[in-house]
Amino acid sequence: MENENISYRRTLKNRKRVVVKVGSSSLLHAETKELDYRRIDHLARELTDIKNAGRDVILVSSGATAVGRGVMHVDKEIMKADGPITVKQACAAVGQARLMMIYQKFFEQYNQITAQVLMTKNTVTDPLSKYHLFNTFTELLKLGVIPIVNENDSIATYEYSVGDNDNLSAIVSSLMGADLLILLSDVAGLYTDDPRENKKAKFIEYVDRIDDELMKMGKEDTGSDVGTGGMSSKLTAARVATSSGCDMIITDSSDLHVLEKIMDGENVGTLFRQNKDDGFDLIEHLIESEV
Ligand code: GLU
Repeated sequence: MENENISYRRTLKNRKRVVVKVGSSSLLHAETKELDYRRIDHLARELTDIKNAGRDVILVSSGATAVGRGVMHVDKEIMKADGPITVKQACAAVGQARLMMIYQKFFEQYNQITAQVLMTKNTVTDPLSKYHLFNTFTELLKLGVIPIVNENDSIATYEYSVGDNDNLSAIVSSLMGADLLILLSDVAGLYTDDPRENKKAKFIEYVDRIDDELMKMGKEDTGSDVGTGGMSSKLTAARVATSSGCDMIITDSSDLHVLEKIMDGENVGTLFRQNKDDGFDLIEHLIESEV
C-alpha cells in the first residue's frame, strides 16, 4: 500500500499560493562567494513557470549582506556575529540593490515582473504596517507580479528584526495564507541528527506533526558562513507555517529542478504537513518568541 507521504505529495500540485525561500549560500559559488548567475537564472525560470501555471508566487531571498560584502571587499572577520553592525547594515544596503538589479534582469527574460518588499518584525506586529503590507502583497499578486522579499537589514535593529529568512518566509506564508512554503537550502532536509557529524543519522521524508522531540533535532549551527538560518530556525519556521495551515518543504537547492519535482508531487526533501491550529496567533508568536 502507498504510504501517506507519497499520496499527500500528490496533492501539492493543487497548491495555489507558493512561497519559496532561497538562502545566501544557494545564490553564490561555494568556493569564491561570487554570484552564481546560472543558478539565479534557473531560479527565475522555475519560479516564473510555477506562476505561469496559475499560482501566486512569492520569493523570499537572502543575500543582501553577502553580496554587499563581496562588492565592497569587506573582510570576513568583520562580518562575524560580534562585528560592527553598521558595516553589515551598509553591506546590506549596497547588496540588496545589487541583488534586485540581478533578479530583475533574469526575470525580465521570462517576461516576469518582480517587486521588492523589505520588512522587519515591526512591520507585522504594528497593525497599520501589517495592514498595508498585506494589501500591497495582495495587489502585487493580483497584478501577476512576483514579490521578492527580504528583511530590511540596513535599518533593522536586534529588537525589531526577525534575524533569519527561514522564519521571515514562514511569517510571510502565514500572513498571506500561502498553502506551500519551500525552503531551498544547502541541506537535503531534516535528519535524526547532524549528518556531517553522525554517519548514522537518518533522513526524514515526512513529518505529520511537530512535537518537542522533533524540535530537539534542530542544530543551531548553519554550516555556512554566509547565511544565518540553521536547522533550529527551520524547525521554528515549520511550526509557524504548519500551524497557519501551510505545508512546508526543506530541500537541497543544488539542482533547482527540485522546484518542478515538488510541484509535480515527487518525493523530494522533508515535507512538514500542515496542521492548522486555530489558536495560533502570528503576532503573539512574534512578540513572545525570540524571533
Ligand atoms: N536578510 C539577510 C540578508 O539578506 C539574510 C538572513 C538569512 O541568512 O537568513 O543578507
